[in-house]
Amino acid sequence: MVRVVLATHNAHKAREFQQLLGREIPGLEIVAYDGPEPVEDGVSFEENALIKARAAAAHTGLPALADDSGICVDVMGGAPGIFSARWAGSHDDASANLRLLLDQLADIPDADRGAHFTATLALLAPAGEPTVVQGIWPGTIAREPRGANGHGYDPIFVPDGRDVTAAELSAEEKNAESHRARALSAIVPALRELAGRGHRVGS
Ligand code: IMP
Repeated sequence: MVRVVLATHNAHKAREFQQLLGREIPGLEIVAYDGPEPVEDGVSFEENALIKARAAAAHTGLPALADDSGICVDVMGGAPGIFSARWAGSHDDASANLRLLLDQLADIPDADRGAHFTATLALLAPAGEPTVVQGIWPGTIAREPRGANGHGYDPIFVPDGRDVTAAELSAEEKNAESHRARALSAIVPALRELAGRGHRVGS
């Protein structure tokens, strides 16, 4: 059994990671983190993912995995970016965030509404350098929210190659192509190596 702590207090996310990664790496056990949350004062997705991974590793003594994600709009120079969760204020209100973004883009023509979701994963093992990978999901910003599935900016994000928003996709469809799915695939080799090196922590 290889145990890895996921630097999130969100038990749902821990289960999702366990399902997706457990399939690829038999014997991998993802545990949720319940220690103090660090201040995310990094200036990139990578820095924030590493800050979270370091805090979880230091508190638990386990190898740690952390993710940081957001939406980046081309015409806005990559914003909201690391400010995605708090774009309309520190209260983390998803519908206010997407409303503000739509208002800001009101005069931007369809051809210039390119954007992408990004997910960065950082894996910190007891020995060696951290592994950092990124998954990108390219698309465009719609003019109005559509769809009831998903969360965050999903109702205004139309993935490339589709004419529906991410909130109109089923969970299975989204999980097959999303930024997070791509980042999770990219981290599998590093987790396999960790398992192979025999970091058997716990019993
Ligand atoms: P975090 O990685 O949970 O901190 O996500 C940061 C913010 O990015 C979230 O609050 C959402 O606003 C946005 N975000 C990240 N991934 C997604 C997604 O898959 N769909 C919609 N919004 C997302």
